[in-house]
Amino acid sequence: MSDKISVTRDLFDEVMVPNYSPSAVIPVRGQGSRVWDQHDNEYIDFAGGIAVNCLGHCHPNLVKALKEQGEKIWHLSNVMTNEPALRLAKKLVDNTFAEKVYFANSGGEANEAAFKLARRWALDVHGEEKTQIISFKQAFHGRTFFTVTVGGQPAYSDGFGPKPGDIVHAEYNNLDSVKALISEKTCAVIMEPLQGEGGIIAPTTEFVKGVRELCDQFNALLVFDEVQTGVGRLGALYAYMDLGVTPDILTTAKALGGGFPIGAMLTTTAIAKHLKIGTHGSTYGGNPLACAVGEAAFDTVNDEKLLAGVKAKEALYREGLTAINDKYKVFSEIRGKGLLLGAVLTEQYQGQAKAFLNAAMDEGLMVLVAGANIVRFAPSLIIPDEDIQAGLARFEKAVAKMVNA
Ligand SMILES: *Cc1c(COP(=O)(O)O)cnc(C)c1O
Repeated sequence: MSDKISVTRDLFDEVMVPNYSPSAVIPVRGQGSRVWDQHDNEYIDFAGGIAVNCLGHCHPNLVKALKEQGEKIWHLSNVMTNEPALRLAKKLVDNTFAEKVYFANSGGEANEAAFKLARRWALDVHGEEKTQIISFKQAFHGRTFFTVTVGGQPAYSDGFGPKPGDIVHAEYNNLDSVKALISEKTCAVIMEPLQGEGGIIAPTTEFVKGVRELCDQFNALLVFDEVQTGVGRLGALYAYMDLGVTPDILTTAKALGGGFPIGAMLTTTAIAKHLKIGTHGSTYGGNPLACAVGEAAFDTVNDEKLLAGVKAKEALYREGLTAINDKYKVFSEIRGKGLLLGAVLTEQYQGQAKAFLNAAMDEGLMVLVAGANIVRFAPSLIIPDEDIQAGLARFEKAVAKMVNA
């Protein structure tokens, strides 16, 4: 037996690389949208592990899949294929525009595959000159060096030496800024169909359609990063389905595993064929344990009633947050879609989103931020209405404390 180590927040500072600054609270178990810490304090979870826990904590379907697969086979590597991976791939293909799937272990890795595929496709089909990637300011695509450089926050990619090249950034919701950059040298335009980390910014339909048209005009691929928006988060299985625009490549992760690490890149057969044998890969990608849980999550979320529930729950959040704001006047706007919502702080509270998060935590509520000025909500897609009401009541107390501080 190993020695029993006493775990406190201080131990984090002692043994962990200091790239995160976690809260003092250390959760130890969760059930649905409730979480308990080491001292048995209870929290309502509006954070969902950053838009990951789409079915809350320990959903019986996921626990069952994990246990069943856990007693069969965990890992094989891609020297062999496996049943859960092929089943999940088949379901992704049957329910989306895609014809082919590549599995990874995270959103960043799914995007890395997408960007490499776009570059390889362009090289094979159009030649060496077509390497430009257009992305958007404030965009977030992951933390690998390629994906973080494609992302639109230079602060995250600076300071690591020479960056991958030929990546430019247009302005989100500004079609003219895309027009100014795009040419026959553009191999792909990468966008989130609602910017998450960048501030919960929804695109206009006009903008998304315009980007699609520009991609067609200049023979560039349109890549949708649906790592945060996918798997029901905005009320459709994937956000593109509500926008009336189909991408050439789509990446999905976060909610795809409902809390188990998995990511995937979806595309058409014509594009997929450029990732030939040996061009790309991953030891764990398509791991049977991850795919078994992913399949259970996918089956559960891909349900008309559940997805309709997301829209109904959005309405509850909007009503509740608006009522809080009518009283305290702390938000200039409630924005977002489905269960990815942002409350934008007024001028007076600029830079204080993290303070609101901490105040909420003190009241027994987990929320997120998106940048310094936005409180973000990304709860379970099946959070009970009573938990929404109870959580909003706790949030109101936190807001009152902030206002009266
Ligand atoms: C979270 C996120 C990623 C990165 O996913 P990881 O699993 O952290 O690598 C990429 N794109 C978007 C839009 C995200 O929200």
